[in-house]
Amino acid sequence: MVERNNSINKMLQILYIASEAEPLVKVGGLGDVAGSLPHALRALPPEILNGYSLDVRLVIPHHAVIREKLRKPRPLIFFSIPYNDSTVEALVSVTNINGVPVYLISGAPIPYNAPVYSGDPCLDGEKYVFFSLAALEMTRQLNWRPDIIQANDWHSATAIYKLAQLRNEDEDYFNNTKSAIIIHNLPYMGSGCEEALRNYNITPSTDSRLPEWSRHIPLPLGMQAADLIITVSPSYALEIQTPAYGNGLELFLKSRSDSIMGIVNGIDINDWNPATDPDISHNYGFENLELRKENKKILLEEFSLSPDLDIPLFIIITRMDHQKGVDLLIETLTKVVHLPWQAIILGTGNPELENACRNLEKEHPDKVRAVIRFDSKLSHRMYSAGDMILMPSRYEPCGLAQMIAMRYGCVPVARATGGLKDTIQDDAEMVYTTGFLFTETSSESASKTLIRAINTYAQPEVWKNIQIRGMQKDFSWKNSAIAYANAYLDLYKK
Ligand code: ADP
Repeated sequence: MVERNNSINKMLQILYIASEAEPLVKVGGLGDVAGSLPHALRALPPEILNGYSLDVRLVIPHHAVIREKLRKPRPLIFFSIPYNDSTVEALVSVTNINGVPVYLISGAPIPYNAPVYSGDPCLDGEKYVFFSLAALEMTRQLNWRPDIIQANDWHSATAIYKLAQLRNEDEDYFNNTKSAIIIHNLPYMGSGCEEALRNYNITPSTDSRLPEWSRHIPLPLGMQAADLIITVSPSYALEIQTPAYGNGLELFLKSRSDSIMGIVNGIDINDWNPATDPDISHNYGFENLELRKENKKILLEEFSLSPDLDIPLFIIITRMDHQKGVDLLIETLTKVVHLPWQAIILGTGNPELENACRNLEKEHPDKVRAVIRFDSKLSHRMYSAGDMILMPSRYEPCGLAQMIAMRYGCVPVARATGGLKDTIQDDAEMVYTTGFLFTETSSESASKTLIRAINTYAQPEVWKNIQIRGMQKDFSWKNSAIAYANAYLDLYKK
């Protein structure tokens, strides 16, 4: 922590470690968060943080895809990381994205031509254990001592575990450095990295609260060692402490419940703005919501669906994954097939689920279109035209699609889990309603709620109020950044 002007301007130094960050590299939701949160944290004025400002710096691997985009990051330092009886060289370069210093780590385990995630646990293990250790060591080499180290998911969890080991060894440099780990998706723990951990001389945990099987897997090690565990929604923070969502770590997580909290992600409200979105035909706000119908007409034409603007258009924009309940969705739509509606499904992923969606289109060509690809521009057109977005997720750590949809006046019908439960309000009196929620993971429960939504859609004034309420919600990063900043300040002062 750097104090200036007799503590009038106090600076907290935060190292944000992630495997991906927009706009340099994005594979999934983590890329969105790591691309937005450091910038949002730096932008917070000291007046709302008790006089503190946050010097947040990001560190990511120098992935092949970044080499194509970024010609000349400035080389800063070389150092070596112990590896068995030898060492591996690490090079740190630096660039700056929207005012955030971004350190890029290179070295043999981060090959020049490899994807961000290879899917091979041995290769990914070597890459991300090296990256985590190099990110930590980098702070010492630069003599930039972080007050907080913020890791994300299993890829950077080893940095936190190593930090705790160094603190235990009474290493002066890191004595006052606190740690936090963000859990974006608990089931992805980094299994298969055991050998990589051994190669980098990282010993398994002896903490008896961790189940035996998890004591040499990066994410459980990081969660054991972290001063604070943050999930991307408050509900998910509670859910992971139960057998249904804890992936075998629920008892351990319960034992750490005092150190677990949830903060909902934000969305980029400039990128996702129906009033200015260049990818949609008719821009609109809640004052001229009727223009959505024009977008709907164009979208229905584009997909050769009947231009019947008065029946609800469902949209689904998702990874095709068991998590997202795509199978449940198909059962649900089949159950309500006798009702008037149309649906456009956009997604890629599991080939079986992709085929199941194609089959649904074949069975109901008058109602359903299955678009099996990743298409960001089409997703914008769909958010601006669809009446409801369907999200029957089995679990949802946060979920962005429902927030984007609400900002566009597209009403979510979703399972009440994780971030969906925290961001969508379904109120029996219809005073606060922004969407429709069901609890059970079943097509019975989903179809009942969908019918409730269809019936509400038939009352245009009630529906319009639901849309406007959703559009007026503040899903910007600012609120999330304030929550993170306060968590960091609490941690720092502990
Ligand atoms: P995830 O678990 O996949 O991160 P989220 O709801 O948090 O789910 O975020 C999904 C993001 O990816 C949303 O912005 C959504 O619009 C986008 N998306 C998902 N599938 C597709 C697709 N096939 N084409 C375009 N965008 C997609």
